[in-house]
Amino acid sequence: MLLKKMPGKLLKTAHYIELGSYQNWPILLPQKIRLYTYEQIPLFLLRKTLTSPDGYRAHLPSKLCLRSIFILSNETVNIWSHLLGFLLFLSLGINDVSSVLPSSGASREDYVIYAIGLFCFQVCMLCSVGYHLFSCHRSEKTSRRWLALDYAGISVGILGCYVPGIFYAFYCNAFWRQVYLLTVLSLILAVFCAQIHPRYLSNDWRLIRMAIFFCVAGISVIPACHWVWLTGGFMSDLVQLFLPRILVMYLIAGSAFLFYVTKIPERYFPGQVNYVGASHQLWHLLVVVMFYWWHQTAVHIMHFRHSQPCPPAASSS
Ligand SMILES: [Zn+2]
Repeated sequence: MLLKKMPGKLLKTAHYIELGSYQNWPILLPQKIRLYTYEQIPLFLLRKTLTSPDGYRAHLPSKLCLRSIFILSNETVNIWSHLLGFLLFLSLGINDVSSVLPSSGASREDYVIYAIGLFCFQVCMLCSVGYHLFSCHRSEKTSRRWLALDYAGISVGILGCYVPGIFYAFYCNAFWRQVYLLTVLSLILAVFCAQIHPRYLSNDWRLIRMAIFFCVAGISVIPACHWVWLTGGFMSDLVQLFLPRILVMYLIAGSAFLFYVTKIPERYFPGQVNYVGASHQLWHLLVVVMFYWWHQTAVHIMHFRHSQPCPPAASSS
C-alpha cells in the first residue's frame, strides 16, 4: 500500500535488503547511495567491522555520508545510539545547571566538575557518531582521520569518568585528589601521544590499542582501593553506600569491553546480526549506560557530601 502511494522517483530507489537471515525490510535509499558486501568494500573499511558480510556504505562524498544517516546500513544503530547518547548528556547538562546543582547548593567547583564530565561524554559521543558516519567516505585519508578522532573520543570519555570520580572520592583529601587528577591527566595525555604514532591505527596494533584502553580504565582500581582504605575500610558507612555503585560501574564497563573484544554474538551467528544486535552496537549501548550510571553516581555522592561535611581531622582543603 505504502509503495503504491510513493512518487515514481522514490519507487525507483526502493531496495529490499536482507535483515538478518529471515526477514525482508523495505529500505529507501537516497539516490547514489547503495550498500555493498564485504568483498566489495575498500580495504581500509575492513578494520573494525570484520564479521558483517553486507550492509556496508562505501565510496561516498561528505554530503552523501551525512544523508546516509537516514538509511538502514550496518552502521545505522552505531550512529543513532551515540547521537541519542549525545542528546541525553546534553539534556542532563541542561537539567544539572537549571535544577540539580542549584537545588543541592552546589559550589563553583561542583559546576566545573559536572561541566568537565558531561562535556567529555558529549565529545566522546560526537567523535563516535562522526566516525561511524564518515568511515564510508571515498577518501581513505578522511576515513582514517575520523577513526583517529573516534579513538581520541574514547580517551576523552574515560577522562570524563575519572574527573568526577576522583573529585568526589577524595573530596576530603585535597592532596590525594590532586595527585590522582594529575596522574590521570598525564595518562590520558600519554595515550594521545601514542595515538599520533603512524602505526596506531593499523590492524597490527589492534591488540595494543585494546591493551592501552584496558590499562587506562583498569588502573582505576588503585584509587578505588585507596579510597576504601582512606574512608575506613569496608565497614564504613560511606563505602557501604557507594561501593555497590562502583562495582556495578565495573560490571557495565567489563561487559562492554568483553563484547568489544570477543565480537559476540556475530561470532556465533555470522550474518544474522549485521544490522541489529552486533557486538559493536552492544558496546555502544553499554558505553551510554555506563556514562549515565556514573553521572547519577556523581549526583548521589555530591548530595551526600553537601549533607555530611568532611570530618575536621581528615579535611585538608
Ligand atoms: Zn563505535
